[in-house]
Amino acid sequence: MPVLEATMTPTSAHEAALHNFDLAANALNLEPDVREMIKYPERILEVTLPVRMDDGHIHRFEGYRVQHSTARGPGKGGIRYHPNVTLDEVKALATWMTWKCAVVNIPFGGAKGGITCSPKDMSQIELERLTRRYAASILPLIGPEKDIPAPDVYTNSQTMAWIMDTFSMTKGYPIPGVVTGKPICLGGSLGRNEATGRGVFYTILSALEFLKIPVKGVKVVVQGFGNAGSIAAHLLDSRQAYVISASDSRACIYNSKGLDIPKLMMYKEKTGQLLGFPGAEEIQPAELLGLNCDIMIPAALENSIDATNAPSIRAKIVAEAANGPVTPDGDAVLESKGVFLIPDILCNAGGVTVSYFEWVQDEQHLFWEAQDVYNRLERVMKTSFADVLKIHTDKKVPMRTAANMLGIGRVAEAIKIRGLYP
Ligand code: NAD
Repeated sequence: MPVLEATMTPTSAHEAALHNFDLAANALNLEPDVREMIKYPERILEVTLPVRMDDGHIHRFEGYRVQHSTARGPGKGGIRYHPNVTLDEVKALATWMTWKCAVVNIPFGGAKGGITCSPKDMSQIELERLTRRYAASILPLIGPEKDIPAPDVYTNSQTMAWIMDTFSMTKGYPIPGVVTGKPICLGGSLGRNEATGRGVFYTILSALEFLKIPVKGVKVVVQGFGNAGSIAAHLLDSRQAYVISASDSRACIYNSKGLDIPKLMMYKEKTGQLLGFPGAEEIQPAELLGLNCDIMIPAALENSIDATNAPSIRAKIVAEAANGPVTPDGDAVLESKGVFLIPDILCNAGGVTVSYFEWVQDEQHLFWEAQDVYNRLERVMKTSFADVLKIHTDKKVPMRTAANMLGIGRVAEAIKIRGLYP
């Protein structure tokens, strides 16, 4: 089995996922047959979605659902609405979901969906028509025992409500367990909305403890002040960390004394942007990455840190709230600089963990208090962090390889025990 160079530059997100798979599979000494079985997606559905737009014309959208693995349980993964969605990206995201569910040891496989569209330019009713057409098109693949979608970038609890309704219409009765991240009134879980950011926060606390850095007074930078990034920032702020800079797709803002995070969240909610927030100056994206800080949280999209900008990073910890924000060649630079990386499949696994809790509650028709959700989530995140850290220190491999070894190792064990080959 060829050993790939850690510094190779994959040309796509899926190639990066395969590259990182090979690094971990090599470190695990995984048999070639098993590698071949678990490396590639099990099932790919590509759909054409004709939607009547508000001006009367029919627009054709392209959508995808990829099930990477169902070896450990039903497929699980979000649905992304974004102009840059491609099949390659969805395959990468589905692959990461498989390893992520295994890292936090929940009984799901990995899946992901997406539609190439510009949701910001669409009306609510156009989004509803698009979502219902997509749900009907992927219907043969999804279901509480088969594959359970959830929100991702530019989809939310409303999107999940439409999918749940479209799916339920075909059965004649409500089936809340077909999606997670639903509104609470439809069987959603308390704590799901903030679960990803909260999970990021718990892993950062664990990393700070390991590195013997007190949380009080640490300087934090957040690239992508959306659901995951803003909640992580808010929780760190509540523990007296200083969030000195944040960005969204339009602007980066900075205050050396720390941004007022509760006010910034309200400002973003009200205006839809960060730009113009009182008491902050605008800086350039490259400046944000090079700020002198303790913790950098990339919480936007893939490939935002690569070999060209990683040398400027001065953070001690990079906590990957986003999926795939650091490219393999960016990884190599951060590693050489001694940056402590909390890899995506560990760092942002709080979202899928509480999605699992939601699915369990739906299946049992018994709902938990918010504090129960937080306590269970904290236990899962801290246990998973400790499991990954142990591989990192025992095997002397980078944190990303350690997380992949844990996830891939568990999937390999599952297919061997099931005897999933003729
Ligand atoms: P979101 O849509 O709520 O937020 C994304 C934010 O990133 C927005 O504020 C957007 O303006 C900003 N952004 C987009 N392009 C940017 C750029 N070039 N520079 C700076 N900011 C930019 O999405 P989210 O749910 O918070 O997801 C963010 C990341 O976290 C994604 O990679 C997603 O896959 C990952 N993630 C989310 C969840 C979840 O439950 N929400 C779970 C796991 C992983």
